[in-house]
Amino acid sequence: MPHSFPRRWHVRQMIAASSLFVLVACAEQPTAAVATPLQAASLVAKTAPSTAVAQPDDANFEIQPAMTFAEWQSMFRAQALSAGIRSDVFDKAFAGVTPDMSVVKADRSQPEFSRPVWEYLDSAISAVRVRKGQALLAQYADTLTQIEQRYGVDRQALVAVWGMESSFGQFQGTQSVIRSLATLAYEGRRPQFAQEQLIAALQIIQHGDIDAPSMLGSWAGAMGQTQFIPTTYNTHAVDFDGDGRRDIWNSPVDALASTAHYLQSSGWQKGQPWGFEVQLRQGFDYALADASTRKTVAEWQQLGLTLPNGSALPANEMQQQAALLLPAGYKGPAFLVLDNFRAILKYNNSSSYALGIGLLSERFSGGGSVLGQWPRGDRPLSRSERIELQTLLSARQYDAGAPDGIIGANTRKAIRNAQQSLGWPADGYPTQELLESLRKP
Ligand code: CA
Repeated sequence: MPHSFPRRWHVRQMIAASSLFVLVACAEQPTAAVATPLQAASLVAKTAPSTAVAQPDDANFEIQPAMTFAEWQSMFRAQALSAGIRSDVFDKAFAGVTPDMSVVKADRSQPEFSRPVWEYLDSAISAVRVRKGQALLAQYADTLTQIEQRYGVDRQALVAVWGMESSFGQFQGTQSVIRSLATLAYEGRRPQFAQEQLIAALQIIQHGDIDAPSMLGSWAGAMGQTQFIPTTYNTHAVDFDGDGRRDIWNSPVDALASTAHYLQSSGWQKGQPWGFEVQLRQGFDYALADASTRKTVAEWQQLGLTLPNGSALPANEMQQQAALLLPAGYKGPAFLVLDNFRAILKYNNSSSYALGIGLLSERFSGGGSVLGQWPRGDRPLSRSERIELQTLLSARQYDAGAPDGIIGANTRKAIRNAQQSLGWPADGYPTQELLESLRKP
């Protein structure tokens, strides 16, 4: 999920309120929140669109710390102790810890190329993952029944998250969480946030859930089979197998229940769908396809939406609030997404991720196929091209905000305005065609 730890969190905060559907590049990264405890799932970066081709700029890569690591550690030790960490716990956890340059490098990488959403989904819902998930649904059937009863979160979604976050525990990250977070607190772009996570990590160790050498995770500090960051662990990890420790690293039972606890807190509605694919009628106003435009399913039906086969939308969901998602713009498939989609976004604020979870959870029982055609011939804009697009939009009085390469709410609105003045479908989706058009004098 994350390729860039401080940027991700920063991005998340900026976009959380205004734009649920962040489909491009940097913002595509799973994000962990600061204000509300959420988690980083850096391992998903392996399958996330924007991390496919990370190309850190080594030329700009040099540390210029204001103090030595030892000086920082001494200062931070005082903070940790005043936050209630015992000195013996701190000293043991920090024994031999040095900054990890691979973490600094990952923190500063700015991926130039992003993977198209259809490629992301192809790997998210791979046949291998589906088969393994089906086997685990059977293997853990009794546990999942208990978890469903306790937390009211559907088992298919839990197993889908498990598969997406860590390939069912297979890839949890192999880096020392203390060392990674210490590096980021010392020399990262969001030191305050990293320090909060580091203190939370020390609290976990002090609580006795795990020892420091076994506390492994991603470079950004996302831990275990659920890829919780430490603060999310402290608020939501549970000991469901009853051995006295919240072990999201080694206990699938604890990991599944912790995921359920988090999704429950995020507003999961048991038995309700995440959403479903729809078909739009000719002449549909694509400007309505925006996370901020929520209508009941009944209202969407009145606007001409049908299921892909042309039949009426599900009668059971008519009163639910839904937004229309066009992950690849008007040329690709369309989806109505409901409350459970929003709950998944709280796990990881990426609409591609949420779509992947939704479709994967259905695929376990044979569903989850997308009938609409993805525009597989289209190439997503690179980061440089997104920045150029934003710059050109703003130069034409379509205010795209800061040219940061992130297609958030402002940029999307600017794209829609430009599309409307060109007489194009106003889907707010950044394309090569639009960039070409704006490059013309
Ligand atoms: Ca346990």
